[in-house]
Amino acid sequence: MKFTELKLGGVFKIEAEPFIDDRGVFRRHFCEKEFSEHNIATKIQQANVSENKYIHTLRGFHYQAEPSGEGKTLSCLRGSIFDIVVDLRTKSPTYMQWISIELNPENRMSVHIPPGCANAFLTTAEDSLIHYYCSESYTPDAEKGVRFDDPAFDFIWPFEPLLISEKDLNIPDYKKYGVTSVSSGDRRMFETIHHCRICDSRQLNEVINLGNQPPANSLYNDLSTKPPLVPLRLLFCEECTTVQLGESVDPEYLFNDYLWVTGTSDMAKEHRNYFLDNALSRSNKACPTVVGIGSNDGTFLESFKNAGCQVLGIDPAKNIADEATENGIPTIAEFFNEDVANRVCSDQGKVDMVTARNVIPHVKEIHSVIKGMGILLDDDGIGVIEFHSGGLIMSGLHYDSIYHEHLFYFSLKTITSLLKRHSLHIFDLTTSPISGGSWVIYFSKDIRPKSSALIKAEHEEKISGLNNYETWLEFSKKVKKHSEELKQLILNQKTKVLAYGASARSSTLLNYCEIDFNHISSIIDKNPMKHGLLTPGTKIPIISFEKALDQINEETVILLLAWNLSNEVMTELRESNYTGKFIIPLPNMPKVVNQ
Ligand SMILES: [Zn+2]
Repeated sequence: MKFTELKLGGVFKIEAEPFIDDRGVFRRHFCEKEFSEHNIATKIQQANVSENKYIHTLRGFHYQAEPSGEGKTLSCLRGSIFDIVVDLRTKSPTYMQWISIELNPENRMSVHIPPGCANAFLTTAEDSLIHYYCSESYTPDAEKGVRFDDPAFDFIWPFEPLLISEKDLNIPDYKKYGVTSVSSGDRRMFETIHHCRICDSRQLNEVINLGNQPPANSLYNDLSTKPPLVPLRLLFCEECTTVQLGESVDPEYLFNDYLWVTGTSDMAKEHRNYFLDNALSRSNKACPTVVGIGSNDGTFLESFKNAGCQVLGIDPAKNIADEATENGIPTIAEFFNEDVANRVCSDQGKVDMVTARNVIPHVKEIHSVIKGMGILLDDDGIGVIEFHSGGLIMSGLHYDSIYHEHLFYFSLKTITSLLKRHSLHIFDLTTSPISGGSWVIYFSKDIRPKSSALIKAEHEEKISGLNNYETWLEFSKKVKKHSEELKQLILNQKTKVLAYGASARSSTLLNYCEIDFNHISSIIDKNPMKHGLLTPGTKIPIISFEKALDQINEETVILLLAWNLSNEVMTELRESNYTGKFIIPLPNMPKVVNQ
């Protein structure tokens, strides 16, 4: 049996190691020795069976209080169930957090629930049969429960339960100590996945739950507006190792009226020539025809145009696409997919280069987008994808880059295998300073020799453990510690702090660390489209750089939310005679900088 401890300490996923021959399957269900090795109590007082005739039957959260606390090991022998385990051990670091796991005869998995945790399940097939081992006898006086829809926990069930007992339905609200209750999210806005978006596996394990958060770019302009709330959870696929969000927000909501404009970042403007030179030097043509997917305001395509290339942009944000077209970069205002690729091909033929900068991790219909890139490319063309490196997110603790627009957190391994599924082959890579550290990868339809830079990066990734669930759980622990430290640092300041950078990333950081308008007086941002608006969930007013200069004195402390642009921002502020301190939240633990 293979034991994997999940995010809640003492909760194990146990995978059978079956012996299969012509007669069928033989597998072990319990082993005193192996259970003991994982500190699981092996005393079995009861073994129970639960038969459930109907699909979407819910059996609620039950547990026994000490001294009758019981450990349980559950297996689903027929049908299938969606099981949630919640941690109710008040001293546990994961108190009130929960995980979900799907059990069915095909995955041959069991889940062990230690004393102090409760579990509930929803059948996802008719006629489901569940077997339990319990370490204690049933003690009615010690029995406690949590309601399946208790707002203090925000459980996410894949389906509405159709059948539930009166007793389970009437369990009163669980009292949460010292933590504000969160609402259950606006369900019209999002869908929860139960299969990996890349490989369709159902084996998704939770890495971290950053709580219910408003979509990061839903800035609004009046205090009474309540932005929609959507769970922000990172999952790890056991099968293909892709790290991804558990929920997809309606893309129409996220991207149709986008506020991120590439041209407002000096770093992006500087990086574009480097990007251009790198891409051109790997192309077989001196002046390739180029299609830019998610081309934003055309800042990058403009440099290709200036180098003599024929360019076309495709970007779903109508406001920004129209502006790019007006500025001489023809841009189609649509979500890119196979259909758009076929249309562009029949209008203007195949192209020599397709670029996608910081867009592939955002797309829900990812297979259609990658396939579309293959359709657009001529046989000797190249594709260029820039994405925030999953390795740096992990090693530098960039959890602020986890937000609803950003569905995938790719490693070299996972992006390589995604491209391979569509007969596209990576052959080289370079780095980029964007987002605090990104990869730019180059791929083709034919198999080209891998560059030494690519071979080296692949090797380093392998030894870093980036593609292992356990390494991501370590990341999750560090994130929690970081958030506590940053909040304390802000609370320690004598006056309200000023912040810099109202980006999508800062929204995650502020919401997760519970830093809001009570702690931050305003946020400086260079994008004029954001001035006068409030940050989502944390209600901090966004102001211009010029306006901020009036508020700054020698006592001011600036929280540098745009830490990935820290040199650019600090130089600018120092040149404007700002002499106060900076709090730099990331990468790694927060730092205070005086010079
Ligand atoms: Zn997968």
